Amino acid sequence: MKPEAARGETRSTCCYCGTGCGLIIEHAAGRITGVRGDPDHPANFGRLCTKGATLHLTSGTAGRALYPELRTSRDAPRVRTDWDTALDTAAGRFADIIREHGPDAVAFYISGQLLTEDYYVFNKLARALVGTNNIDSNSRLCMSSAVAGYKNTLGADGVPASYEDLALADHLLIAGSNTAWAHPVVFRRIEDARRANPDLTVTVVDPRRTETAEFADLHLQIAPGTDLLLYNAMLHVLVWEDLLDRDFIREHTDGFDALRAELVEYSPGNVAAACGVDAADIIEAARRFGRAGAALSMWCQGLNQSHHGVANNAALIHLHLATGHIGRPGAGPFSLTGQPNAMGGREVGALASILPAHRDPRSAEDRAEMARLWGVESIPEAPGLAAVGLFDAILEGKVKAVYIACTNPAQSLPDLTRVRDALEKAEFVVLQEAYADTETAEFADLLLPASGWGEKSGTVTNSERRVTRVRPAIAPPGEARPDWAITADFARRLATRLGKPESSFDFADEAAVFAEHVSLTRGRDCDMSGLSHAVLEAQGPLQWPFPAGAVTGTPRLFTDGVFPTADGRARFAKVGFPTRHAPLPEPVTARRPFILTTGRLRDQWHGMSRSGKVAQLWGHTPRAEIAVNPVDLVRRGLDAGQLVRVIGERGEIVLPLATDEGVAPGQAWIPMHWGAATLAHAGANVLTSKAVDPVSQQPALKQAAVSILPARLD
Ligand code: SF4
Repeated sequence: MKPEAARGETRSTCCYCGTGCGLIIEHAAGRITGVRGDPDHPANFGRLCTKGATLHLTSGTAGRALYPELRTSRDAPRVRTDWDTALDTAAGRFADIIREHGPDAVAFYISGQLLTEDYYVFNKLARALVGTNNIDSNSRLCMSSAVAGYKNTLGADGVPASYEDLALADHLLIAGSNTAWAHPVVFRRIEDARRANPDLTVTVVDPRRTETAEFADLHLQIAPGTDLLLYNAMLHVLVWEDLLDRDFIREHTDGFDALRAELVEYSPGNVAAACGVDAADIIEAARRFGRAGAALSMWCQGLNQSHHGVANNAALIHLHLATGHIGRPGAGPFSLTGQPNAMGGREVGALASILPAHRDPRSAEDRAEMARLWGVESIPEAPGLAAVGLFDAILEGKVKAVYIACTNPAQSLPDLTRVRDALEKAEFVVLQEAYADTETAEFADLLLPASGWGEKSGTVTNSERRVTRVRPAIAPPGEARPDWAITADFARRLATRLGKPESSFDFADEAAVFAEHVSLTRGRDCDMSGLSHAVLEAQGPLQWPFPAGAVTGTPRLFTDGVFPTADGRARFAKVGFPTRHAPLPEPVTARRPFILTTGRLRDQWHGMSRSGKVAQLWGHTPRAEIAVNPVDLVRRGLDAGQLVRVIGERGEIVLPLATDEGVAPGQAWIPMHWGAATLAHAGANVLTSKAVDPVSQQPALKQAAVSILPARLD
């Protein structure tokens, strides 16, 4: 799709968070001149937050990758080259490594910032052409525990509710999400809901007293890592006080009796001390949930980025299954996605643990079906490497070449020193990116310039399963190209070298890629075989399932009480599935007395490669600081504003010290956005641990033990 006329307005989508706000790009003479919210978009109805409303200020060439760049040795600088040389070199290196060491010696690490069409081509390249499951996404860092939580309870990775349910709920439980900052337009809808319904009660569970927690009428300021205890204790109360929907449990679920037997030890009195909250507040939270006419829960990284994130998700979903708060207006367990197209990545199967349309790579039947649909002999059986393990494998020399797209692992992955060592050790690093000034670009042997926001055409799916068109307003700068087109071009060249047909990557345009993607969803839980770019143009954003012949989208799943499991019943996993509550992987000690958590600021996005270029976004928080409770200043003999060394088991960084009453005593908080490109060191992830949830492989990014000591400036 070509950019629109010389002067005009183009409907598109915000490229930051999973809210998925529609916007109108104003442009003239090949430049983006303004942006405003799309009043007709059902996610935001014209609203934008500070980040979305300043997107036009990110347009331009500052920091952009403009031309392919290649270096011939690690010591040499990258120099400009042409596209043919760049892609032939990449295809040649990958083909050599695959021939010599096998397909699992290469890997792809991609991004929830990519469009669905980009994601799809990458996934087909890895699984069908190369023959490896070594493809993972930075979405692993934010919502893979939610995917596994849904699958292990509801039978499929489907967010059952919609934003419109906010206005229909009479109780809202927000867990591990500072929605006011991370999903600001969703939060505006929550404020609207409370204005319209003064009886709406809001409980927030968060170790920090955030702006979202301030809004709640009950804040459970739990100790980090105790979510599982809390939700099991709430279920204990629901059982004890008979606030259950027994008909729903009997007719639509399995496993409740076994679970109930194990709940005995999770009384509020038993867990309150570990959770760091009053037993009375746990009881009150459970009663609000159980007595509500319609209860909606929303959660994000606080629940997911845990050593038992899947169990946390399952425990929260159990509350809905026990009370029947699911499949009805205003009710349901609603996992918020962090990135603009994390959901699209789940649809196309661009995580090591998923095949297209939510198929399972562990299933021989699913692999055979995908092989047939893609017209290849087989889909590999060997499990793919998830993000943390993928970079471990590079460090160990098992993966020799990595193709990274639209993400910045040298800033965002835990235990950064190890990740940077891995990138240093890799034989060949391809980086396909809109920006050349990221931390990861430093390690790239080949830089492929990609189109960015305002320059691309395709689709994204937001948190509520709503598929929206992304449209280009201007041409990309320099020689940048759309991600899907670069990847398909690379795939054709690689196919030739591997002696395989290249025709399966001959897509006429992004609409053709989308058409192939949706054709694979036919009959699946996420069936969107009735969608096409043309349908989206005609009808606007639509929610899946949208099977062939559908005329409207689906705002709510499981309304008939039938779940996509073998017997149609949802499952109560056993308490603590797949593990019982476990202490933090890195407990505090006298030497490391603070629990460090990291999180988002209101006005920055990820590693700031885009948002950091907008001067006015720096007004909210102009510098990185480590925040602690004022009582810890007194205890530790520290002063607000002084520079401190933050020391963990894997490294240390130096930051100014700040106080925040919202941070509990004994805890510390650092925003996640800064890295080596914006600080003199590599940011908070030097400190974070690579401990992962055993099922989802999602890193426990919110839990590390650190000490804080005065920095000496000599
Ligand atoms: Fe963009 Fe999210 Fe803000 Fe909406 S809420 S404008 S999608 S950053």
